[in-house]
Amino acid sequence: MDPLITAAARALSAGDPLAALKGIALRDDPPALALRGIAMAQLGDLRRARELLRSAARTFGPKEPVAHARCAVAEAEIALVSRDLGRSLQTLKKARAVLEASGDQKNAAHAGYLEARYLLLIGRLDEAEEVLDEFDPGVLPPASLIGRELVVAGIAIRRVRAEPARTALQRARRGAEDARIPALAREVDQAVRAFRAPAARLVAGQVERLLYLEEVERLPASNTLIVDACRNVVRLGTAAIASIGNTPMEALNSTVTEGGGGYVIPGLWDSHVHVFSSPAEPATAFPLYVLNGVTGIRDMGGLLPLVEIERIAATVEAHEMTGPRIILSGAWVDASPGSWPGMFLADSPEQARSVVRRIEGEGWVAVKSYSMLHEDVYRALASEAEALGLPLVGHIPESVSLPIAINAGHDVVEHFGRITKACSTEEAVMIGRVGQALAGADPRSAMIEEMAGHNKIVLETWDEGLCESLLVSMAEANVRVVPTLVVADFYTGKRPADLQERMAALPETVRQNWSLPDFRLSAMTDELRALADESIALDVLTFQMAHAAGVKMLAGSDASFANPFIFHGFSLLDELDRYVASGLTPREALYSATIAPAEFLGLTDESGRVHEGMRADLVIVANDPLEDLRTLRRPVAVVVNGQVFDADGLEKLRDQLPD
Ligand SMILES: [Zn+2]
Repeated sequence: MDPLITAAARALSAGDPLAALKGIALRDDPPALALRGIAMAQLGDLRRARELLRSAARTFGPKEPVAHARCAVAEAEIALVSRDLGRSLQTLKKARAVLEASGDQKNAAHAGYLEARYLLLIGRLDEAEEVLDEFDPGVLPPASLIGRELVVAGIAIRRVRAEPARTALQRARRGAEDARIPALAREVDQAVRAFRAPAARLVAGQVERLLYLEEVERLPASNTLIVDACRNVVRLGTAAIASIGNTPMEALNSTVTEGGGGYVIPGLWDSHVHVFSSPAEPATAFPLYVLNGVTGIRDMGGLLPLVEIERIAATVEAHEMTGPRIILSGAWVDASPGSWPGMFLADSPEQARSVVRRIEGEGWVAVKSYSMLHEDVYRALASEAEALGLPLVGHIPESVSLPIAINAGHDVVEHFGRITKACSTEEAVMIGRVGQALAGADPRSAMIEEMAGHNKIVLETWDEGLCESLLVSMAEANVRVVPTLVVADFYTGKRPADLQERMAALPETVRQNWSLPDFRLSAMTDELRALADESIALDVLTFQMAHAAGVKMLAGSDASFANPFIFHGFSLLDELDRYVASGLTPREALYSATIAPAEFLGLTDESGRVHEGMRADLVIVANDPLEDLRTLRRPVAVVVNGQVFDADGLEKLRDQLPD
């Protein structure tokens, strides 16, 4: 063996690159090139070091695979130090295999240690641990052994395990003191400082403080609900969360009870609202949703321009404004002149197709059909929506039968009454007469006039057998329904017991508008009112049958400043109560406002359940909501997109409501 090479190698492993260079600085044979490269690396000239190692590897060539592999490992180490991650992982794996096969356990272990360091750096902790297990650390040179302890500590810190991190760092520090390599000592010091620095900020109510790793580690064990706003993750204990499985709420409930706290449920969805019917509406609607535990809404159509709606939704996502997550589902399409101002209009199949393309281009998540559309236009709307992959939601047009809509691929029927109507043996006659009304000069008034008599016909001709088969075909076609049963209260004049409190939360102009005589009610005689009660009872019966037939329900209220006495937030809870009064269990009612909407919206990875890794949208209530939904009326705390509102926070939200 070349004595100069041996001496240089010894000097390098003692961390003395200048001594190493003394004997070999001018030599160009491969072993000298390799050692010069390592020396340059120790001196901090990483670029020169890589050059030297690369030319050493080249000169060794394939005839000396082991020497070639050693150079590759050294070069990868430099790449690692300069954070040039590139292809080095593959290089290291290959080199390690060559070294192992040749019996060079020491360098193979060194390559393995570097591999683990790489994997830690890119966050692949499981793999890093596996690699560490694959070689015997006893054969590592002292410097690599210390580096290995830093990897072990790094993995423990990222896993939030303070004790293993601390002991690994202690071993690294002792090793660095013995080895007397200044660069290594600095690296260990740096790791120790990182370990001792605060690891998180705890915000609980009014209190804010920094937490150290040990404290972060103790949090899950304390069985408190942890909202990790940094990673947007929710944790409740550790094992308990993992065991939720198919029955999320029960499992979670028992966990929370044992911890002596409240009950945690996923934040609620209201799948049918209008929050953009006036510019002032969001400022009132958003806090009311959060106060009622509603952390997601499906907006079904507004009067503000799309850019403004998108701006407001983005403001909420960015936490610049407190409010629920908003799904823009309100691209409503009607026949001329449109039931509401600003709707998309389509009077021919061609127009329908081009409107759908425009809706898709503007970024809406669905196409919403409306009441006056003609059948051929509606069919074109449905087929173009399907072609572009947009769900078709909204009203079944009044001149289109429900079976035709099911066949056309209608995805969500909004408002339940239309289904009850389809259970009438006279549906075809009624929709035919609406079709005639729509062909006249004033289609909107003619349609409303024609439909005024339909409730009576439905009551007289509703057919259980027809209804049953219709509902089965809806369930089979996976047509969902947003019942909005609370809308009936408007017609019957039924008002909530806490009307004063709810009205006080509304702007004065809205209170005034709602107290004006409404055109929809001016024609209500006692006789018609009695009919309305019967119609509502028939809706409830049909609703029960639909539920029994397996038709999926998405809870929705139709809350809007434009819909008198349907209240943002409150009315969704009224709606859930209505489901329970109609025979659903509280669990089934909650399902329609949590899991069912998340499934429909394709958001099951982030919403609808309480689980690790989900978006932090949660409601904490005092009592078991599976026993009684009344506990939802006074949430203990609401978490919306990671923002926590405890009792004080909710009170502040209430104070923010405009008068
Ligand atoms: Zn609506």
